[in-house]
Amino acid sequence: MENSKKETENKKQEERNQARKYIGKAESRRFCVVESRVIDRITYQNAKVPCGKKRCTTCPHGPYWYARVWHGDKRTRVYIGKEFMTLNEFNLKKRIEKLEKEKKEWKERS
Ligand SMILES: [Zn+2]
Repeated sequence: MENSKKETENKKQEERNQARKYIGKAESRRFCVVESRVIDRITYQNAKVPCGKKRCTTCPHGPYWYARVWHGDKRTRVYIGKEFMTLNEFNLKKRIEKLEKEKKEWKERS
């Protein structure tokens, strides 16, 4: 039940973030969610992100998609990319890319 309470809180926070339109430099220093969706109980966020570099003139970057996941008892984000896909699709894509790489290496060796 704690989790659903947290989810409600996070949802409220997201709504607040969405309501806050991106204006000026101060805003460019924070992770700014422009869209969020929930699929199979996983929250996905499309956000503009600051890179942290002092001299960056193109901050924030993106928007990029992130999946909100629990890592033990901590909530973290998994970077998905510019194009939206679910966490399952993302993991599948990564697995395919790994196999393709292995195939290429194997071909080069033989
Ligand atoms: Zn930057």
